[in-house]
Amino acid sequence: MISIQVKQLTKQFGNVVALHGLDLTINPGELFFLLGPSGCGKTTLLRSLAGFYIPEKGQILFGNEDVTRLEPHKRNTGMMFQSYALWPHMTVAENVAFGLHERKVPAEEIKTRVAEALASVKMEKYAERKPNQLSGGQQQRIALARALVIRPRCLLLDEPLSNLDAKLRLEMRTEIRRVCKEFQLTTVYVTHDQKEALSIADRMAILESGHILQVGTPREVYKRPTRKVVANFIGETDFLTGKVLSVDGDHVFVETTVGRFQGVFGDPTRPAAAGAEVTVSIRPECWELHRDAERKNVVTGRIGDSIYLGEVAQYDFVTANGTKLKIFERNPRFVDGSARGELYATVEPEDVVVLTD
Ligand code: ATP
Repeated sequence: MISIQVKQLTKQFGNVVALHGLDLTINPGELFFLLGPSGCGKTTLLRSLAGFYIPEKGQILFGNEDVTRLEPHKRNTGMMFQSYALWPHMTVAENVAFGLHERKVPAEEIKTRVAEALASVKMEKYAERKPNQLSGGQQQRIALARALVIRPRCLLLDEPLSNLDAKLRLEMRTEIRRVCKEFQLTTVYVTHDQKEALSIADRMAILESGHILQVGTPREVYKRPTRKVVANFIGETDFLTGKVLSVDGDHVFVETTVGRFQGVFGDPTRPAAAGAEVTVSIRPECWELHRDAERKNVVTGRIGDSIYLGEVAQYDFVTANGTKLKIFERNPRFVDGSARGELYATVEPEDVVVLTD
């Protein structure tokens, strides 16, 4: 198992600075995701790790080895992309063996290693098929076997599941996690799919415009975004503008357009003092609806539009001053006519995230 370290990494394309002096440490054996809006630099960072781009400044270390300028085929990374890129004229076994032939591995060993790699992705029965005789999910398993068979130092995955249908994606994402953990492979995974990241990542980095905004576990990033862009990018949220009334240890009291809240700073290293203008971020699933007023963090309003989705309903909760808050209710009680009257929405202080950027 190796760590991957990126130090002050800068990559430019002409005038466009795609990565601005990034610092990042990925721990040995970690399944690490790169997330962020289109054009934020995810692919550029992954391709720099793979060796397809040479950065203008900075360093990339695999363990203690500086690989910044090492050619891609000497880095010993396993890669998997959106397109499976399997050779159509070769059988599954030949496709998986390809990288080993190139590395001049003896024939007997190739046989054993191909069989092992196919077994690890549960595809041993398909060794003699051609790729066009396999489903999309099966082809992606072969692409994974091909990445594993070379016994890479780390895995680099670029949107590996985006060509698969929803059900297969679910199946394959847990499969990818299983394989990474079984082989104890440090893995860097680029995706647009937050659910993919939230469900299987050990940690993730959120990038924007070539900068890393936040690094953390899925729960840390989702529950405590340190900035507006992160709160907005991961999951859904409502932003309310507010003013800090007072700060008491970890707790901050804020006056907003829909009432007073007790909350917490998203980034405790950048708190704000009384009087400061801030943004309050509250996620739709954090509210609870009641018919009676509660003691604190309560907003009075009515349900406007609602969408019933079975296990959950999505409401537009319209407050006294006309602000619309998004509220998700599990096991919905307030859909239909039962929701006509005034209701009280409450939220736990830990779910009121006060942002100071
Ligand atoms: P997406 O989610 O859309 O794939 P991304 O986060 O992977 O985006 P990158 O492909 O890394 O983003 O691009 C980062 C920035 O660098 C963008 O502004 C992009 O236009 C620019 N860029 C990337 N590759 C090149 C290139 N070969 N030549 C010029 N500019 C490039």
